[in-house]
Amino acid sequence: GLDVTWAVKWLTLSAQAMAEHRVELIELDRAIGDSDHGENMDRGFQAVLDRLAETPPDTPGAALKLTAMALMSKVGGAAGPLYGTAFLRAATALGDAAYIDAPTLAAALGAARDGIVARGKAESGDKTMVDAWTPAVDAALAAAAGGDTLSVLIAAAEAAEAGAVATDPLVARKGRASYLGERSAGHRDPGAASSALILRAAAGAAA
Ligand code: ADP
Ligand code: MG
Ligand code: MG
Repeated sequence: GLDVTWAVKWLTLSAQAMAEHRVELIELDRAIGDSDHGENMDRGFQAVLDRLAETPPDTPGAALKLTAMALMSKVGGAAGPLYGTAFLRAATALGDAAYIDAPTLAAALGAARDGIVARGKAESGDKTMVDAWTPAVDAALAAAAGGDTLSVLIAAAEAAEAGAVATDPLVARKGRASYLGERSAGHRDPGAASSALILRAAAGAAA
């Protein structure tokens, strides 16, 4: 099973990915938003690293709860409360368990996605981060039946990446990009792109 060491590595790799892809996420948000997504996510995950160093968590759930709090207070915009809710719901799903097995992992990813949907009210195809999370959860649930945690995370990451790419032709119906109407088509959703990076980091931390 996955333990707190995995969770801390996941968050550390996520912070690295946000720093490395900062400009790319800014460019995606420049096309259909207000150019701040890369900056928001980089700032948020740097705050996560600070809090992990200050208060090392004992369980995966505690690590994800700390992450939720840091992202809610530091990311801002639309993405801050959405990611904050996602990590908080995942933390609640894990409780104070020391180890996470494949079905629990898939359920926690599902809880994260449900939190994003509850807060943002986006449906699949609205060109949001939900278009990365929903295929990721579907793939994770399928892989969890008979698979180990690494195969769940790899399936989720691959599906999230495909889901992010599939937002390119969509017309945005939620968030700032929806103000552009048809002109939002032809660009990848920044939040779907950052979600795919975070889920890829989760797989990387387990490998
Ligand atoms: P802002 O739009 O306030 O500047 P960010 O640029 O940080 O915030 O985040 C934008 C991302 O948030 C979008 O690319 C999209 O994925 C996500 N988003 C916006 N609104 C919603 C929503 N209602 N439901 C789900 N995701 C959303
Ligand atoms: Mg923005
Ligand atoms: Mg903004």
